[in-house]
Amino acid sequence: MVLTDYTDRISLHKLYGQIAKNAAQLDQTGCFPEQEFNYIKEAGLLGITLPGNFLSFDKLKTKELLMLLKEIGKASLPVGRIYEGHINALYLVSLFATPAQKERWFTDVNFGKKLFGVWNTQEANGVRIYDFGNGKYRLKGTKTFCSGADCIDRPLVTGKLISPNKRGWQMFIIPTEKVKAIRADRSFWNPLGMRASVSYKMDLSGIELREADLLGPPDAYYQQPHFSGGAIRFAAVQLGGAEAILEETHRFLRSTHRTDDAYQRARIAEISYLTETGNLWLNQAGAKNDDWIKKPGTADQIVAYANMTRTVVEDICLRTMQLAERSVGSRGFMKPNPLERLHRDLTTYLRQPAPDATLNSIGDYVLRQESTNKLWDDARR
Ligand SMILES: Cc1cc2nc3c(=O)[nH]c(=O)nc-3n(C[C@H](O)[C@H](O)[C@H](O)COP(=O)(O)OP(=O)(O)OC[C@H]3O[C@@H](n4cnc5c(N)ncnc54)[C@H](O)[C@@H]3O)c2cc1C
Repeated sequence: MVLTDYTDRISLHKLYGQIAKNAAQLDQTGCFPEQEFNYIKEAGLLGITLPGNFLSFDKLKTKELLMLLKEIGKASLPVGRIYEGHINALYLVSLFATPAQKERWFTDVNFGKKLFGVWNTQEANGVRIYDFGNGKYRLKGTKTFCSGADCIDRPLVTGKLISPNKRGWQMFIIPTEKVKAIRADRSFWNPLGMRASVSYKMDLSGIELREADLLGPPDAYYQQPHFSGGAIRFAAVQLGGAEAILEETHRFLRSTHRTDDAYQRARIAEISYLTETGNLWLNQAGAKNDDWIKKPGTADQIVAYANMTRTVVEDICLRTMQLAERSVGSRGFMKPNPLERLHRDLTTYLRQPAPDATLNSIGDYVLRQESTNKLWDDARR
């Protein structure tokens, strides 16, 4: 089964069902969703954004991509997180790789079924890339929150480049089977939820790279609007989590015959319009992105819109969880009721980088405009 167009929707529904069915079993420390990624590979979803394919980045089908991410997130947030990381890595490759690198990495996806991920987060002992000359580099240091951990075949990692010629925050992609094994510190990942994202601390010390493994020039990773603009993809996965909570709350209220109560109706009404608001935001963010991305001078606007989208979706998810808690009570949050896991997973996955700075940056963008007329109507220069 390879997704070519929307005629494959039925197959996708089956895929989401398969992923959702096993989500509770995966909720254990050290349990990578291997079977789920086999289904994803079989469905052709690893390469769905590659040139010529249905959601190829150059076709500008961001809305459709966001809906795919949302549905996978709804089936399982950890699977959604890892899949989103794969898509993010391929987006960076499409932006910054040389033609020869694209051919290599796209072949890895299409024929090798290799899974990519992006590992940028780090603590004090972060990654440094030492230039040894003759196109050879050696790594030292660790990354934290490395989703997929040693199950990622092609981690796209960032680090500080230490070289006589170049300096900055450098991306590289590790051909894992050709280098020294990356040491995983599993003890790092002891989270409230999202256990199956296996977001371990990874020690890259001693790994040697070639020039061809470096992606883009130094500091390309933080290039806007791509860096902040990508937040709409994790927001899509998060909204999938809120939709799963709506579904389970609905199921619980019906099965306990608590549907005639006015308060319960009011709460389910609110969750319903909130999650639908999230869909409207995602659709609009996708449309705006595709409209603006090709126009010069739109980076700030794309970033501000993506920042608003992720902030609204975070609020929607938090409010949805609160309403669901009040609706189902403590009984509804007991295992094996899925709400217990969904709530923990979404609470954990909502913690994304710099929420305060994000809000601040939206305000800064708006206040830099001379007026609020047509703030988001058309690309402003
Ligand atoms: C399930 C999961 C999977 C993940 N997978 C990956 C992955 O594959 N790759 C990857 O690179 N990362 C990954 N991450 C990390 C993620 O991208 C964020 O970096 C991380 O979740 C942020 O953690 P935090 O909330 O503790 O952040 P913090 O930055 O500590 O933020 C906590 C609060 O402090 C505020 N704050 C931040 N900086 C300051 C400051 N200087 N002064 C005052 N206040 C501040 C923030 O606004 C926020 O309110 C993952 C995270 C999760 C939860």
